[in-house]
Amino acid sequence: MSFPSTRDAALARLRAFLPRAGRAYAANRNLDEGPGRRTHVSELSPAIRRRLVTEEEVARAAVAAHGPAAAEKFVAEVSWRSYWRGHLETRPALWQRYLDDLLALERELGRQPLLAARFAEAVAGRTGIDCFDCWVRELDATGYLHNHARMSFASIWIFTLRLPWQLGAAHFFRHLLDACPASNTLSWRWVAGLQTPGKTYLARPEIIRKVSLGRFRVEAPLATVAPPPPPEPPAPLVPLAPLPAADPEARSGLFLHTEDLCPETLPLPARPLALAATDAIGGDPAPRKRAHANAALADGVARAAAHFGLAPERLAEAALEEELRAFAARHRLAQLLTPFAPVGPVASRLARIAGALARDGVRLVPVRRAWDARAFPHATRGFFAFRAILPELVA
Ligand SMILES: Cc1cc2nc3c(=O)[nH]c(=O)nc-3n(C[C@H](O)[C@H](O)[C@H](O)COP(=O)(O)OP(=O)(O)OC[C@H]3O[C@@H](n4cnc5c(N)ncnc54)[C@H](O)[C@@H]3O)c2cc1C
Repeated sequence: MSFPSTRDAALARLRAFLPRAGRAYAANRNLDEGPGRRTHVSELSPAIRRRLVTEEEVARAAVAAHGPAAAEKFVAEVSWRSYWRGHLETRPALWQRYLDDLLALERELGRQPLLAARFAEAVAGRTGIDCFDCWVRELDATGYLHNHARMSFASIWIFTLRLPWQLGAAHFFRHLLDACPASNTLSWRWVAGLQTPGKTYLARPEIIRKVSLGRFRVEAPLATVAPPPPPEPPAPLVPLAPLPAADPEARSGLFLHTEDLCPETLPLPARPLALAATDAIGGDPAPRKRAHANAALADGVARAAAHFGLAPERLAEAALEEELRAFAARHRLAQLLTPFAPVGPVASRLARIAGALARDGVRLVPVRRAWDARAFPHATRGFFAFRAILPELVA
């Protein structure tokens, strides 16, 4: 089973799925036939995550194929990602809190052998819960899980196995090809009862049997209650920071990264004279996720090179700040354009890069798509308020 890692393959997958993106999607999207057999969902998330295709393209294609009413459910699901990204962008403390908790929990694993043993059994898929153990193996083997499986996985992790949600979110983040700081962290928080305070998600054996079309028996007992966690202090709402304005006349370079690999549709304020990207993605992803992201990056860089007529330069990931300073100096750049990266590891790295370039008087200018700029300010409340703007967003 493969997930598109080039724009051509992603567009082909979109075209193939479009006939099923209307009322059929609304009726059947929760059904999970299992790996290699899924027909009810698009499996486009790894491509959308890296923006080999954009949310805008996918949503508009569905509306064009089915009309706004029949495509409404698919467009709403595609927009969940925009909503989560906007929500985290305006509440960045939630990401930092997750990272801090994770550090503390990783230390706890060293101190608490019982917790460490439960954790080790869970990530090895040796819990005796047939669906859960099977999803662990599927995640490892493919880097993907159906949405309903993710919800039940997270619920069993938290309420049956009594493991901290942050460790589960980190396990997903390491393996999922579509791992997205916002969608992943906030979905885990939602299952745990933190995102919509007091509202948890309880996985039920009869529902799992039904949506998996009888693939699982779910005979091992699952938690029958999902108590809400103690309330946490609210994360402050931070208005969207205006991005530094570009100078359309300045000598400009383009730096590509895995948050947005559709440079040919990016509204660049100046024509780039030089093109750079890292030689490989950073962090500590599972090998399958690393391979997918690197293939997507190579495809994005090749398309950018063809589109702008530039020879791409691949810079050493480990010394990116210094490599980009040298790149800017070589090409006498006054500014480096880069796709906007929402809250997460890439945004943190870009902040460090901006500081390093500033020492040489070079500005890092993130370029935000109109879709994000229009969507994010509406993601400060619940999804249902956000949903009201979707017709306008897609139009
Ligand atoms: C605990 C948990 C963790 C998750 N982590 C991620 C993650 O790291 N990255 C990620 O992209 N999605 C995440 N999701 C959301 C969702 O499960 C996946 O986007 C979806 O399963 C992808 O499969 P698909 O492409 O076949 O979806 P389709 O049903 O075909 O939907 C089309 C597109 O809409 C978007 N989408 C659909 N449902 C959601 C949703 N609930 N939230 C956000 N976007 C959605 C995706 O981009 C998807 O490709 C998570 C959900 C849960 C419950």
